[in-house]
Amino acid sequence: MGICMKIIMLGAPGAGKGTQAKLIADKYGIPHISTGDIFRANIKNGTALGMEAKSYMDQGLLVPDELTVKILLDRVAQEDCKKGYVLDGFPRTIPQAEVLDKELDKLHDQIDHAIDVDVPDENIIKRMSGRRACVSCGATYHIEYIKPQREGVCDECGQELVLRDDDRPETVGRRLDVYHEQTQPLIDFYGQKGILKTVDGTQDMQDVFHAIVKILE
Ligand code: ADP
Ligand code: AMP
Repeated sequence: MGICMKIIMLGAPGAGKGTQAKLIADKYGIPHISTGDIFRANIKNGTALGMEAKSYMDQGLLVPDELTVKILLDRVAQEDCKKGYVLDGFPRTIPQAEVLDKELDKLHDQIDHAIDVDVPDENIIKRMSGRRACVSCGATYHIEYIKPQREGVCDECGQELVLRDDDRPETVGRRLDVYHEQTQPLIDFYGQKGILKTVDGTQDMQDVFHAIVKILE
């Protein structure tokens, strides 16, 4: 399909933004852009950006806006983003959202949909503590809900699956606090712009996806 769509995924850490963003990107042939994935790739490659980001991520804190905005704007300026994109984990603060708006404005462009994947805090703890991510390609599974074919092994590339450092129980609580304080206000922000759509993220992965496709079409 050749539709140009710019989509933002909202929701708590562990709500399923990445899982859904990947399905959307595959179905509509648009890039899936995760600032968390970009930071993790930098950490893996030992870059200066990665070192700086890691010091915040491991504490469950947000990476400063200035740094995050720069990497995001560089990424969306690339050629493949001309056909649209799905942003997963950006924006996470009001100032980030405002910069994105301003940049799009300059191009006479705008975000089409902000999709809030709504999952209550009680479910989030279980989602994050059971999440396993591939050390190599970043694909994500869940030990109970979305199992790989072979335990501990990535279906896509055969590499090892691990618990992310920031998914340890002592960090999860902090990340949820940070979400409520700094990120949740974006729900009102996009609500006021009239582009907010909410889906019940407690459903099965495929049911959540069907709800999203219905919104997009
Ligand atoms: P986010 O990108 O919002 O942090 P993920 O997409 O990584 O969240 O999902 C968090 C965890 O929950 C992962 O382990 C994922 O496999 C699992 N998960 C995602 N969607 C669902 C769902 N609808 N039902 C159950 N588990 C899910
Ligand atoms: P994620 O993979 O989306 O769960 O992100 C993992 C971590 O990366 C977050 O807990 C933050 O520390 C950092 N991060 C990712 N995206 C952003 C963002 N837009 N703003 C600030 N920090 C971010």
